[in-house]
Amino acid sequence: MAEADCLFCKIAKGEVPAEIVREGERTLAFRDINPQAPTHVLVIPREHHPDAASAAAAGTGLVDEVVTEAHAVAEAEGVAGTGYRLVFNTGSGAGQTVFHLHAHVLGGRGLNWPPG
Ligand code: 5GP
Repeated sequence: MAEADCLFCKIAKGEVPAEIVREGERTLAFRDINPQAPTHVLVIPREHHPDAASAAAAGTGLVDEVVTEAHAVAEAEGVAGTGYRLVFNTGSGAGQTVFHLHAHVLGGRGLNWPPG
């Protein structure tokens, strides 16, 4: 299911360009347009789900796939060994701006805790 006005559905369909780093049958990974770290890649399912919780509740298995793909991206980017941050912003109060499930893979610099 694709949502007509969803930016990440359009990227998944190739209607909006993105720098793709990894393609799976059900997932896609591409660089964030406004990177917050030397490695900042977004991993999405091709299928539209507003956030990770709703995809998990639907029993799609997509959250597991997104996490597996995110780790593969981190390995390919050379940040898996030192550590990377995997972020699912969920809800506008947490900074979610695109309501299509995505994991941020952030690495390549020191990452403070707690995050801002
Ligand atoms: P959120 O704030 O929803 O967790 O993350 C959305 C992310 O999508 C942001 O980090 C933002 O920079 C990124 N983004 C927004 N528009 C585009 C776009 O057109 N292309 C790409 N590659 N990333 C985008």
